[in-house]
Amino acid sequence: MRLFNCSVCGNLLYFENVSCTQCGHALGFVPGQMSLIAINADANAYFAVPGTQTRFKKCANYQQYQVCNWLVAETDQQNYCRACRLNHTIPNLSVEGNQALWQIMEKEKRRLVYSLMQLQLPLVSKEQDKEKGLSFSFLSDAPCEFSERNRVKTGHDQGHITINLAEADPVQRERMRSQMAEPYRTILGHFRHESGHYYWDRLIANGPLLQQYRALFGDESANYTDALNQHYQQGPPANWPDNYVSSYASSHPWEDWAESWAHYLHIVDTLETAYQFNLHTRPRAANDQCYKMDVDANPYTQANFQAIIDHWLPLTYALNSLNRSMGHSHIYPFVLSPTIIEKLAFVHRVIKGHA
Ligand SMILES: [Zn+2]
Ligand SMILES: [Zn+2]
Ligand SMILES: [Zn+2]
Repeated sequence: MRLFNCSVCGNLLYFENVSCTQCGHALGFVPGQMSLIAINADANAYFAVPGTQTRFKKCANYQQYQVCNWLVAETDQQNYCRACRLNHTIPNLSVEGNQALWQIMEKEKRRLVYSLMQLQLPLVSKEQDKEKGLSFSFLSDAPCEFSERNRVKTGHDQGHITINLAEADPVQRERMRSQMAEPYRTILGHFRHESGHYYWDRLIANGPLLQQYRALFGDESANYTDALNQHYQQGPPANWPDNYVSSYASSHPWEDWAESWAHYLHIVDTLETAYQFNLHTRPRAANDQCYKMDVDANPYTQANFQAIIDHWLPLTYALNSLNRSMGHSHIYPFVLSPTIIEKLAFVHRVIKGHA
């Protein structure tokens, strides 16, 4: 994720900021420019950038509910921003607490949309393209029914991504993480995973990359329901860490792809943050070059996947050690075997091939 400067006072800003802590200006993210800018209200309730003639309106979800911080061009017919116009169903806001949970969801969703735009992936709403577009629904179960087999299933179906709103509640999410024996469960991880299913349909299905995909991930025509049932009843194969980035990835070739895709997004976005902070690591106790890291290029535009991996591994060693020093468990509970790295390299080639 990029870092930003206040366009009025130069203060360092973060993606989620809604006002500058130094000069007090309200802020808005302009997706077309990938920039966070200071805004002023003017007489017509449109928001002008101080010192320029440019005018924007706040996204309707920014204006009305404060669950967004993105802007829309004044001339745009749409009242919703690039991220919010992907919404199909928002939570029932008459239920107490839902607005706060929705706000958490939208924060994570905007991080996904940011990455998809940075990677120049096709991104259209279902409203624009009913067949090939993308949409999101945030739904909740009746109280006390949140489980993997509940009625609202987080998942993807032909461009439509549904996320169970309970995932935004840290207590519920941690309970599920523990029940499913997962080392890692985050909302952003869900968004990244489900987007992987969507882009499989867009970039792999019935296309020239299908054979390469099958050679690495297996034959996705294997019965999906049977595979999932088998996974939940018998667990993953004992040697899954040799071939899969997570135990769930071993359940079916589609899930392997979605997990690998999500992992690729974890890597490039975290590396971009390291690049923005100009992080270097040179462990004092290590003589080996492979522990040194200096992210010298934006990973979103990096053509060479090996360079991404070479930067990534030393960064994860440092991140895990920092987390342990704060009494937390490893922030990065994954081990990348050569087979997994090959799969990630394929995800990279698919994305670069499209861009
Ligand atoms: Zn400022
Ligand atoms: Zn918005
Ligand atoms: Zn999946």
